[in-house]
Parts: sequence; C-alpha cells; structure tokens
Amino acid sequence: MIAMGLQNERIMTWWITNVLINGERGSIRLHQGKITHLGQISSVHSEKQMDGEGCWLLPGLINAHDHLGLDLLPHLGNPPYANSEEWGKAVYQPDRSPIREIWELSYWERLLWGAYRNLLSGVTTVQHHDRAHRQLGSLPIQVPAYRWCHRPGSKLKGWYGWARHAPFFIHAAEGTDEASYREVDQLHQQGKLGPRTVLIHGIALKPKDIEVLAQTDTGLVWCPSSNQFLYGQTAPIKALRKAGITLALGTDSTASGPDTLLAELQTVRGLLPDAELMAMVTTNAARLLGVPERGQLRVGSPADLLLICSPGASSAAEALLTCSPQDIRLVLVRGMPALVRAPFIESFPSTRLSPVNVNGELTMLQGPISTLLKRTRPLLGERLYFGQPIELLTAKPLPSPPRER
Ligand SMILES: [Zn+2]
Repeated sequence: MIAMGLQNERIMTWWITNVLINGERGSIRLHQGKITHLGQISSVHSEKQMDGEGCWLLPGLINAHDHLGLDLLPHLGNPPYANSEEWGKAVYQPDRSPIREIWELSYWERLLWGAYRNLLSGVTTVQHHDRAHRQLGSLPIQVPAYRWCHRPGSKLKGWYGWARHAPFFIHAAEGTDEASYREVDQLHQQGKLGPRTVLIHGIALKPKDIEVLAQTDTGLVWCPSSNQFLYGQTAPIKALRKAGITLALGTDSTASGPDTLLAELQTVRGLLPDAELMAMVTTNAARLLGVPERGQLRVGSPADLLLICSPGASSAAEALLTCSPQDIRLVLVRGMPALVRAPFIESFPSTRLSPVNVNGELTMLQGPISTLLKRTRPLLGERLYFGQPIELLTAKPLPSPPRER
C-alpha cells in the first residue's frame, strides 16, 4: 500500500489512506499543496497513496507568539520582574555567556533554530514578533505577513510581507506595575484596538479592559509559561474566555517560555476544555494571524498537516494533549514533507530532507539542519535543543571484535 517515490509532492496528486479524521477512519487527498478530499476513500485509480498506519490526522499547529531569533537562549534572569523592560535590562549582556556565543551565529541561523523549535512540535505557522529577514519565506515553517511593535511607546517596530492589511501584534499589559495596568487604556485612546490588533500577554488586564477588548473585537495571545516565569502570574484567562475574546496560545521565546508549543499545551491542560486548547493553536490562532484558511481540516485548505501516532487517544485533541514530540511522525507544510519519521521515511526519498538523530531516532527534516548543527556545536558544545538531543548522523565504524590472546 505504501507508494514509493513521492518526489514531487507539491504538484502531484496523492492520498494518505487509513488515518483517523475526527475519530473516523478515512483518507485525505492532496493536490498542489491543498486538501481536495476528506473522508472515506473514493476512487483512487492510479493516484499515488501512502498508508497513514492508523495515525491521527491533525491540522498543522500555529504558534501565535515567538521570537524566532531568540530560541537558543536558556531561561534568563532572576524573576520576578515588574515589566519586560526591567527584565530586558537585567539580562541583556551580549559580552557574556550564553548570549555571547549564541550571537556568533547570524540572525538567519538563529531564525532557523527558532523554526526547528516549532517544527519539532508539529507547528507549521508561526507569528514572529521581531524584525523581519529577507529569507523568512524560506524557513521550514511559514511566517505570515505581520505588523509589529515591541510594546506601547517602543521604537522597535516594523512589518513583514504584504503588510497593508496584516494584523498588528504588540506586547501589552505585560507586567505587574502601574504602567502595565494603563497600557490597554492608552492603546484604546490611540485608536489602536480592533479586529486587526492582537495583544500579547495581557497579565495586567482589568475587568474594564476586558470589556474594551470585547467591544473592539481585539484578540489576545496567552503565553502562560513565560508569564509565570517572569512575573509569577498570567492573564485572567477565564474572564477573557467568558467575555468571548478570541484567544490563541503562544510560546514566547525560550528565554522565558517552554521548550515547545506542545509542552505549553500540556502544561495548561485541564485549565480549559481540550477542544478549546486545540482551537487556540489552530482555528483561533489562524484567525488572529490573518490566515483563516489554515488550522483546519477542510477541502480547499492548505495541506499543513500532522500525523500523530497515539493509539490510546479517544479524540484528536486528546492525542495532541497527551503525545510526546516523538509521536509526531509526519509534518507536511503545503503538502511538502517538513518532518518525517518511521514508518513514513520510505515514502519520501527526496534529497531535500536532511537526516538527523532527534532523541536517538532518525528524523528527516526540511532545510539545512545538518549545516546548522555543524556551525552551532563548536560554539555551544553538546546541549539539548528544546529539551531534546539533536545530533548529526555519524556513520560510526562497527567496533572490531576483541582479539583472542
Ligand atoms: Zn514576546
């Protein structure tokens, strides 16, 4: 049943059969990077197909807040802090380890590491909250057009892509001091709130601010682990949910956040229903990022897809919220393989994928991961990347048998 030689996935038509789609066994047809059929297999005829081995089929996840260039940093500082400026001043010491060594890498190399942090947990789209780079479109994950400002009043701002109608992202109410409590009011008075504005954090939201967000249809990205680390508290998520605010989940960078979006999801499991947490990394996040066609399994949507092999799960949300990163066996971005593990490796003989060991398991990744590892290891030594060892494949010679004396 496994089709060999899916070499030209973007233009070709192919099927993944025998997958769980919303709990039902079914098949999906991909054509030119889009989903063109979902459900029971219809007539396959001569079209290529791959057996999905009974895995759960999910839409690619969306991380609604990250700073891709900062994702090699360990947690920095001695919290709690009053606001992000205080934290930034305390920890930004580019002449000292570990920032000194990490800054030896180019911005592009650091962006790539940020992309792999996301890809390894099934993320196919990221909101990058930082300056753009001319090659952002070449990362193994997708970064939609955005406008951004670091925080209210900051000179750090910019945009990426066809930005005229792109959503505007800003850190706001990130802190526990008086200034943080005033920020939403200021943004409202400046006319900056609305359906194309997305606030990040919202720790210092007052009940009146939440009303304003609801009235203006302003969205919010929740970064609970980062908030807990830096400030010892987080956004009033239940009040926000009750007010009907569109909520998405973001990791923030590794300098304050979790290893991955998967870890973040699993940390907050139980605070909100599973299906809502899943929406926060799929449909809700897609809406806030201005890409509403993503984050769902629907005919016509881009084929940003995951296969999670988690036989004990009773729903897609449960599979997502209980799986380990190793249970993610296949990630497709626009129908193209971006992460491939057994038993699907044979189906993608393409030379565009680089083989590496992740947690001791052969993992094929899109993009220059091998070159990146070679560049990074002399600077940072042996280390975990996002909680996992990632190593070059070395063709070690077999040990010679002991000589008989
Ligand atoms: Zn941030």
